[in-house]
Amino acid sequence: TEVRASEVGANDEFSDLTRILNRTIDRLQALISAQQRFVSDVSHELRTPVTIVRGHMALLNRWGKDDPEVLEDSIKSSLLEVQRMETLINEMLNLTRAEQIPIDNVKEVTDVGGTMHRVYDNFKMIHPDFVFTLDDDLAAEAKVKIRQDHMEQILIILADNAVKYSLERYEIHFALSKTANRVEIGVQDFGEGLKPEDAKHVFDRFYRVDKARSRAKGGTGLGLSIAQRLVEAYGGEIALESAEGSGSIFTVYLPLYIEGKNEVN
Ligand code: ADP
Repeated sequence: TEVRASEVGANDEFSDLTRILNRTIDRLQALISAQQRFVSDVSHELRTPVTIVRGHMALLNRWGKDDPEVLEDSIKSSLLEVQRMETLINEMLNLTRAEQIPIDNVKEVTDVGGTMHRVYDNFKMIHPDFVFTLDDDLAAEAKVKIRQDHMEQILIILADNAVKYSLERYEIHFALSKTANRVEIGVQDFGEGLKPEDAKHVFDRFYRVDKARSRAKGGTGLGLSIAQRLVEAYGGEIALESAEGSGSIFTVYLPLYIEGKNEVN
């Protein structure tokens, strides 16, 4: 159902007002339908694990007392699904929080190089089968007005994906550079890459190129939307350069913090 303010008057002032009102109504309607879509997506995502757990409960109820194999198997599978729901709920909370960052109140200044080195060291330790490289040829520090844990979260999301979607060449490249007014953060992999029509959607909530594969790797389809919301909350942008079969480069651009210069007060 379309809601519209009717354009009655020929009066200029009145039609200006009508136009503003209609624009506001359009925006509200878009917000409401985005909200409805979110609720419907979430329900859909939760339905799979709930169905699986219910199936196992039925099995347990029927055979669990007599068959130790069913007992073990069903409990293990149910635990896994419950963990999945937990991850999903936590990520949805992360997404909502990322949308509510009051950017003007953020006082924390983060040294992006330091954060990148920490993430790089951690990934090297967790994934010994991968080769990680880091290129941060910076004369001075790259500072950004961003919460340290948020900067880390963005990097972890991108690096986690780079690992998850690598195929034969287990190599991940981190890069950090800066220009006069912004910091550029790159995470590159040489994995499966993305088709242009998929690349367009990877930042959409719950979008996964291969649902089953992402699910098997513990993915929720929310990582990149969280990363994008975070980056945008701090006045930045995230871009993707990818080719199917040869890998992807995700680049995060954030405003460079210069002491005294972009200070609000
Ligand atoms: P997921 O939890 O599924 O990884 P994301 O929001 O992080 O969710 O990513 C959405 C989808 O984008 C993934 O399911 C995958 O299909 C694709 N994708 C993300 N990162 C990469 C990458 N580095 N290489 C190839 N595909 C990727």
